[in-house]
Amino acid sequence: MKRVAVLGGGPAGAHAAEKLAASGLETILIDEKLAWEKPCGGGITYKAYEKYPFLFENQTQKKVVTETYLGAHKSDCVKMNLNQPILIFSRREFNQMLLDRAEKAGAQIEKERVTAIKEREAGWTLKTKSGSIDADYMVVATGARNPLRDFGTQWKAEDTMVALGYYIPSNQEHIDIQFLDRLEGYIWVFPRNGHLSAGICGRGATAQELRLRLERYLDEKGINWKQGQLYAHMLPSLSRSSWRNNRMAGKRWMAVGDSAGLVDPITGEGIYYAIRSADIASSVITSSGFDPATAGGVYRGRIEDDFLLDLEFGASFAQKLYLGRFFFKSIPSCIVDYMHRSPKLYELMQDIFSGTQDYLSLRNRLFRNLNGSVNETIVNFIFQRIIPEPPVGMRATAR
Ligand SMILES: Cc1cc2nc3c(=O)[nH]c(=O)nc-3n(C[C@H](O)[C@H](O)[C@H](O)COP(=O)(O)OP(=O)(O)OC[C@H]3O[C@@H](n4cnc5c(N)ncnc54)[C@H](O)[C@@H]3O)c2cc1C
Repeated sequence: MKRVAVLGGGPAGAHAAEKLAASGLETILIDEKLAWEKPCGGGITYKAYEKYPFLFENQTQKKVVTETYLGAHKSDCVKMNLNQPILIFSRREFNQMLLDRAEKAGAQIEKERVTAIKEREAGWTLKTKSGSIDADYMVVATGARNPLRDFGTQWKAEDTMVALGYYIPSNQEHIDIQFLDRLEGYIWVFPRNGHLSAGICGRGATAQELRLRLERYLDEKGINWKQGQLYAHMLPSLSRSSWRNNRMAGKRWMAVGDSAGLVDPITGEGIYYAIRSADIASSVITSSGFDPATAGGVYRGRIEDDFLLDLEFGASFAQKLYLGRFFFKSIPSCIVDYMHRSPKLYELMQDIFSGTQDYLSLRNRLFRNLNGSVNETIVNFIFQRIIPEPPVGMRATAR
């Protein structure tokens, strides 16, 4: 029987291992930590649990959140009732749930660090601290700090954001999102069971600058971050050209999740894309009969059709969305201001938060829906300046 090695046991690796094992392949998952509290908000959108209902229907502790407060520099915060709740998990518990599913499907789970990879005839030998493992095919799911330089995205500095935050013992029932002046990024406060995950991500700012901005915000909100535990990690945020040249697969290997850079460049959502890419990779591996000549290309094509073109298009206007200005106000401040006055903009933001509004059809929707009142005409005008026409051939995907 053919053997597939899955390197990494986060959402991408655990889901790939589950699917591969369930399809009857001998599957071994190797992760140096297994279930751990990976620095993350742990937020799961409706788009994710609608496609993968097991993300909602499980016994793992989660917060089901239906309210978000959106704030921006010099704007009155707006309360948004989510039309579909966001689920928030501790990452340790979430990863454990996914690893349990993989094991139940028949995957062998090993707590080991992969230290080197050697190609051998028609397969691979993975070196670990305690020995070596042979496999016919590899799924690389080692995350954004992927140490395996020959496999997965070839990072450039502009393709990543710093993301850091605190786990703070406290309780609240809603999510806070705060946009800051002149920052391509945002602050989030996610309620979890027994604590908050409060963090900030941003491109082009140092970790020290981001940390100070986050601490200042938490002080203003009266949230005692000094009792919290600091976390930091890298968040993939590919530029448009990097999406196009992204190295996602090669002969007898495919990269999934963060190690392939598959994160929304505007929202930072990555868990859905980790699971979705793992699902697609495993179905291509099982159906391709391990043909190393074609499987990588088929995988890339399926990812493009499914979500890559949409994220690539999002990357083309992410910076303008965060840093653009309209009459001396930042665009996020304009959005928050106009959400108070335009029910249609409010609805659109609800759909963006649930993940049901894609980027490719956003401009069209604004043009069709936001031209009833003076306020809506202004909002439409602002967005038409920021969001380019999708290039011919990039069709709108229904997420
Ligand atoms: C601060 C922050 C907040 C975020 N918030 C959200 C959010 O709220 N919602 C959301 O959808 N996304 C969020 N993301 C993104 C999300 O965390 C990632 O997209 C997601 O974890 C990707 O899953 P993955 O399985 O690809 O990688 P990871 O979860 O990083 O898993 C990689 C695994 O590989 C293992 N590994 C690495 N190297 C080796 C090796 N050599 N040998 C063995 N094992 C190895 C690691 O131990 C790890 O378990 C956030 C990211 C950050 C940084």
